Amino acid sequence: MSARILLVEDEPGLVMTLTDLLSAEGYEVESATDGPSGLSKATHEAFDLILLDVMLPGKSGLEVCRDLRQQGKDVAVLMLTAKTQLYDRVVGLKLGADDYLTKPFEPPELLARIEALLRRVKRDKLMPVARYEFGDVQIDFASGEVLKKGQAVNLAAKELELLRYLIDHRGKVVSREELLEAVWEYQPGVSSRTIDVHVAWVRQKLEDNPQSPRHLHTVRGVGYRFSA
Ligand code: CA
Repeated sequence: MSARILLVEDEPGLVMTLTDLLSAEGYEVESATDGPSGLSKATHEAFDLILLDVMLPGKSGLEVCRDLRQQGKDVAVLMLTAKTQLYDRVVGLKLGADDYLTKPFEPPELLARIEALLRRVKRDKLMPVARYEFGDVQIDFASGEVLKKGQAVNLAAKELELLRYLIDHRGKVVSREELLEAVWEYQPGVSSRTIDVHVAWVRQKLEDNPQSPRHLHTVRGVGYRFSA
């Protein structure tokens, strides 16, 4: 799945150039041209990375970044600063920006930074949760031990991997396609039906009422969502 990038930049020429450049690289690009609309988009839509100019009308990039972090948004933020704004770079990083790039920059430099940042974010997201609890279920992912109401429950390896993936992405809708890629790595003979069956098994083992699950939700026509 291609990464979604939000470009918050008020200079129309740069918006056009960067949108073309990033789209040509296969990224999905949305843009906003002032601070408040940038913040609103970043708050209400899912992005993998935000390219955030510092000098923006309405609300500076620094404030947008700060507000996002205060809302608990952990999307990757790459700040675009002017050469003279050393102060902004320092403050930006303090406020939660992941990296910055000084204007003017060369396209290859920008693309390299974006790639590096997306890789880093992906790696961080894959950092294993060692233990996880929800309801009356306790999971130790390292040992594979699962307890429900204190009783050991036996989950098959794929069931545990599936559950772990959904838990790592808790609160978000995970598509069957994504699960096929992440958990089954497109093994031959594995279809979305395989996923549905595994979800049903996990529900059977862990949900109080598998017919009306409280944690492993079906999102009709899309996939699944885990909530604690
Ligand atoms: Ca600007």
